[in-house]
Amino acid sequence: MINALMMSFSPGRTEGQLFFQWLERSSLASFRAAHALPDKVKIVEVGPRDGLQNEKTVVPTEAKINLINMLSESGVPVIEATSFVSPKWVPQMADQVEVMKGISKKPGVSYPVLTPNLKGFEAALKAGASEVAIFGAASELFSKKNINCSVEESLQRFEEVMKAAKGAAVPVRGYVSCVVGCPYEGQVAPEKVAHVAKRLYSMGCYEISLGDTIGVGTPGSMTKMLEAVCKELPVSALAVHCHDTYGQALANILIALQMGISVVDSSVAGLGGQGISWSLVSDGPCYLHLPCVSVLSPQGVDLPKLMDAGAFICRTLNRKTSSKVAQATCKL
Ligand SMILES: [Zn+2]
Repeated sequence: MINALMMSFSPGRTEGQLFFQWLERSSLASFRAAHALPDKVKIVEVGPRDGLQNEKTVVPTEAKINLINMLSESGVPVIEATSFVSPKWVPQMADQVEVMKGISKKPGVSYPVLTPNLKGFEAALKAGASEVAIFGAASELFSKKNINCSVEESLQRFEEVMKAAKGAAVPVRGYVSCVVGCPYEGQVAPEKVAHVAKRLYSMGCYEISLGDTIGVGTPGSMTKMLEAVCKELPVSALAVHCHDTYGQALANILIALQMGISVVDSSVAGLGGQGISWSLVSDGPCYLHLPCVSVLSPQGVDLPKLMDAGAFICRTLNRKTSSKVAQATCKL
């Protein structure tokens, strides 16, 4: 086959040069055809919640408010602002009411908050939240160790939150954690992820964020997991949430984009981890999309403003950014 193709080229060049030219052109064309990326990608910025809750230094409320306002000024359309969880479990989120009341809500920007139970949901609503998020794990052991109940029991507990949210016309986002690996169970079956995702969707979650909570996913395991989930749910209802523990987050996100998923969670400056720890992928997704019509809001995200927000919170935490984009452009 290759010989036949090489023979068909016009004379005057070496066969080797022509072959590589052909290979380059044909593989580029077939890559574009086979892996069209979405025209628009929505970034869900989870740094103020998922990121900060994993930071040891307790951040002053004023700094959290400032961070969220800077993020909304950068054009990010969704910012997960805080969590209405007991301060006993997550001291970093103890100021959830002050944060919700202190931020300048920009028209068109959503500020969802995590609500693990009905008490949290009611408090969130009282504090002015207009969108909430719930979470289930795809791993039994993770669920047991993390929230002390089985996956099924955790889903049943969310039914009362879903019912209350429906009554108040509050949209609910669902998270599935440990979608490709669990610190206690190891590999997680794609079918189990699909089952939990489908349950959350059937309960009324408008979007399901599939979380590689410990960042062990690879393009291979992501593909298998996403194929299983896409058999059960419309791709338009899916998001990915990739931690960068082993440096695979952007590769995994690219796999998701190629499969038609167009919502990506990210954490400014890689908040939530240091170095190669469990940090969520940082502003890389925004950078990744810039050449292919980024997206994020009608105007797109203003990357320098996003990096300013990252630089601000890094100064507050007295740590270096995990964002490769910020490192490359010296906005440390
Ligand atoms: Zn996360």
